[in-house]
Amino acid sequence: MSPDSNRYDALIIGGGPAGSTAALVMARAGLRVRLLERTPFPRFHVGESLLPRNFALFRELGLLDALADVPKVDKLGAEFILGSGGEPSFFPFGLSLVPAEKMSYNLERAPFDARLLDVAREAGAEIREGVAVRKILRLEDGNVEVETDEGNVAARFLVDASGQSTLLGKHLGIRSVLPHLKKVAYFGHFENVWRRPGPEGSYIVIVVCEEGWFWLIPLDETRTSIGLVMHEPVARAVGLSADQMLAWGISRCPELRQRTAGATCPAETHVLADFSYRCAPYAGPGYFLTGDAATFIDPIFSTGVCLGMMSGVEAGRAILAAVQGGKDPGALRRRYNRFIEGSSSTFFRLVEMYYDHSFRELFLNGEGPLQVHRAAMTILAGYVFPRPPFAVRWRFALLDLLTRINRFIPLVPRRERFSLLAE
Ligand SMILES: Cc1cc2nc3c(=O)[nH]c(=O)nc-3n(C[C@H](O)[C@H](O)[C@H](O)COP(=O)(O)OP(=O)(O)OC[C@H]3O[C@@H](n4cnc5c(N)ncnc54)[C@H](O)[C@@H]3O)c2cc1C
Repeated sequence: MSPDSNRYDALIIGGGPAGSTAALVMARAGLRVRLLERTPFPRFHVGESLLPRNFALFRELGLLDALADVPKVDKLGAEFILGSGGEPSFFPFGLSLVPAEKMSYNLERAPFDARLLDVAREAGAEIREGVAVRKILRLEDGNVEVETDEGNVAARFLVDASGQSTLLGKHLGIRSVLPHLKKVAYFGHFENVWRRPGPEGSYIVIVVCEEGWFWLIPLDETRTSIGLVMHEPVARAVGLSADQMLAWGISRCPELRQRTAGATCPAETHVLADFSYRCAPYAGPGYFLTGDAATFIDPIFSTGVCLGMMSGVEAGRAILAAVQGGKDPGALRRRYNRFIEGSSSTFFRLVEMYYDHSFRELFLNGEGPLQVHRAAMTILAGYVFPRPPFAVRWRFALLDLLTRINRFIPLVPRRERFSLLAE
């Protein structure tokens, strides 16, 4: 065991939103925190549309001033529309059932992530960029050790915030991919994409098709992030190279063709495997998994950064309670596991419902009985921590039932399915 004087209270792997938030919470409370990030910041990252619960967290953590000059667009809601066009459905965040923030941000991740990391550094966390953690050497409560590019580092607790690398999940062999949610995403930043006038121009737009969906996220005055998320077997069957897929998808989709008619396309696009997975249990002897290192949820509802930062706070507070409060780590991780399970399983259920055409018909209809649409909106706003309130849970169960009934007995006007392969 390393001598205590060399040992940090917490070692964090990864400086994305989950890692920097965990570092901030613990450093502010006086813990000795070291965060290792393998890539020098700022660095490109996907995940540019945030939820109102995330905005509330910025407020709770006193981050709004620090984020003031990060380029962004105030996001006031979401628009859903079929790829063939027709009537859109608008979901302003003001529809939430619980008292909630009515806005969030759309933003480019590179400056946002860099700013969060700076705030954690200013709070006293020791942050090293360009240093990767290579291997987990020891994992016990109060005694963990890892091998890094700069030698071994020891700490009382380890926070894995390594994102989709899932360093600890792979080390422990607990990463399990959800086979029905295997997707591929193709995306890039466009100039001068058409936007609706007024507040709806700030909304994230989800364009629905049978093969998956498109996102359109306004990033600033002129730039819009566009992505196509496709079911992986369908993407493979299309048979084009990755750099051709986004242009192909846009050319097959009337709604996208129209919105990008006067736009400048990016010189290059990105591609990412977009497989949903869980690494449960999310906490164990000596460790806490946060953000994408804990679980990755299909990004249709833009839940990732919110879950990342909320779990970063929760993991940070659990370690504080163990180190400063002498609380039993076993009890703290049981609570942490419930926090991740209760919140993420709600998001997962909504994602699964989205891929059911019957749910889309109800959803695109905009309104449902007994305010079920407002329950869905509360979840979409991110108010699910540690689990959704009762008023949301029973309505969500009712929405699930209505989705099943609507498959056989039309409860709302039928919507024709739109396929990129049909034209
Ligand atoms: C196609 C797609 C679209 C998405 N859209 C959205 C969206 O609109 N809104 C949203 O909220 N979310 C979205 N997400 C999800 C979002 O990107 C993630 O949930 C979010 O970035 C998770 O934050 P994190 O801090 O857990 O991980 P990350 O932001 O990925 O940060 C992890 C960090 O760990 C570092 N790291 C990895 N391994 C090591 C190592 N061994 N040593 C040191 N450092 C290491 C990495 O360099 C990285 O900087 C999307 C995801 C995908 C795939």
